[in-house]
Amino acid sequence: MSGVGASAGDSSMRPGVAILGSTGSIGTTALRVLARQRDRFRVVALTAHANAALLAEQEAAWSPAFVGLVTGTGGRDAWARGTDALVEAATRDDVDVVINAVVGAAGLDATLASLEAGKRVALANKESLVVAGELVAEAAARGGGEIVPVDSEHSAILQCLGDHAPSDVRRLVITASGGPFRTWDAARLAGATVADALNHPTWSMGKKITVDSATLANKALEVIEAHFLFGVPYDRIEVVVHPQSIVHSMVEFIDGSVVAQLGVPSMELPVLYALTHPERVVDSGVPRFDPVQASPLTFEPVRHDAFPALGFGIAAGRAGGAAPAVFNAANETAVALFLEGRMTFGQIATRIGEALDALGGMVGGDRIALLAADAAARTFVRERA
Ligand code: NAD
Ligand code: MG
Repeated sequence: MSGVGASAGDSSMRPGVAILGSTGSIGTTALRVLARQRDRFRVVALTAHANAALLAEQEAAWSPAFVGLVTGTGGRDAWARGTDALVEAATRDDVDVVINAVVGAAGLDATLASLEAGKRVALANKESLVVAGELVAEAAARGGGEIVPVDSEHSAILQCLGDHAPSDVRRLVITASGGPFRTWDAARLAGATVADALNHPTWSMGKKITVDSATLANKALEVIEAHFLFGVPYDRIEVVVHPQSIVHSMVEFIDGSVVAQLGVPSMELPVLYALTHPERVVDSGVPRFDPVQASPLTFEPVRHDAFPALGFGIAAGRAGGAAPAVFNAANETAVALFLEGRMTFGQIATRIGEALDALGGMVGGDRIALLAADAAARTFVRERA
């Protein structure tokens, strides 16, 4: 199938884009990319959680047909309000591509609805796939929608795979920067502050994913995401630490050939590629890569003892059922409490492990069951703050 915006044409033919979470790190990156691709795409819908001031600026710059603010006050009377605004934006007739840049399980219903409505979902919201990977696949099959990942590792894997079937793949190797605490010993990690955790060495991102990168919970979310996106079993997905964040991930094929995708750590290319896949378009704004400047490139094993959240998440993925939803919800809640100063850094992983022990065996299956597991895990962690 051809990329939705691959051929610049008559303006009425330009695919319509909805950005859910337009005020966030990925949302604003997407608007920067789209500003250079105005001859290929139209922005028709924008939604945000609470930042009415930035949303109003974006509305003034883009004149979208639909603007939604989930909570908070301000903005214009014409704006849609409440959680339904996400699904409303995503399923509009004039929307062809939904960039889901919402953070957390709050993005799930919009992912499901977009796929049911036959849209392309440029998916940054990896939590959708973690909470309900099977339901997401079913929604795509039923509605004819497709997911193209925005996450840099999964964009890399998609680009490395080309037309190869999962049976041609021996192993996916997902790279991890290692986060700000890559070299910290246990004693120093015990005293890690919020400011330390938010000081990411290579990527500038929203707070939740930045903390997830410090605990390596983000890599667990990404292993589960890769499992569902590419249909590769967990025992053929590995994580390796690569502090420079230049090699975005690799695919080892059955003949032993390893294909990697490289570039500077910028989300502009993965966002652009999610819009145009499988085509490529000219974009002079995406930062250029200089191999000499990027040197040296190094790789290290993961320190699982220092970062137990990674192992908990992968085990939850393997267990299936409601366990990945419990992992995700426990992590979201613990990270929020850590950011509020109500939990230590080490307690994030501890509480995730406890929540999985207590609730990981809850039944999965349909959306109602998964949301019940999600709610139970949030309550469990909050009660132990
Ligand atoms: P962010 O916090 O900067 O932005 C989140 C956006 O979602 C904001 O626009 C906010 O208004 C909206 N939002 C938050 N909670 C919401 C809710 N309950 N309902 C509706 N809207 C809500 O986060 P981010 O860093 O842009 O990350 C967004 C998603 O992309 C996450 O799933 C993250 O894991 C993923 N991701 C981000 C990066 C990155 O570089 N930032 C890279 C890869 C993947
Ligand atoms: Mg990533």
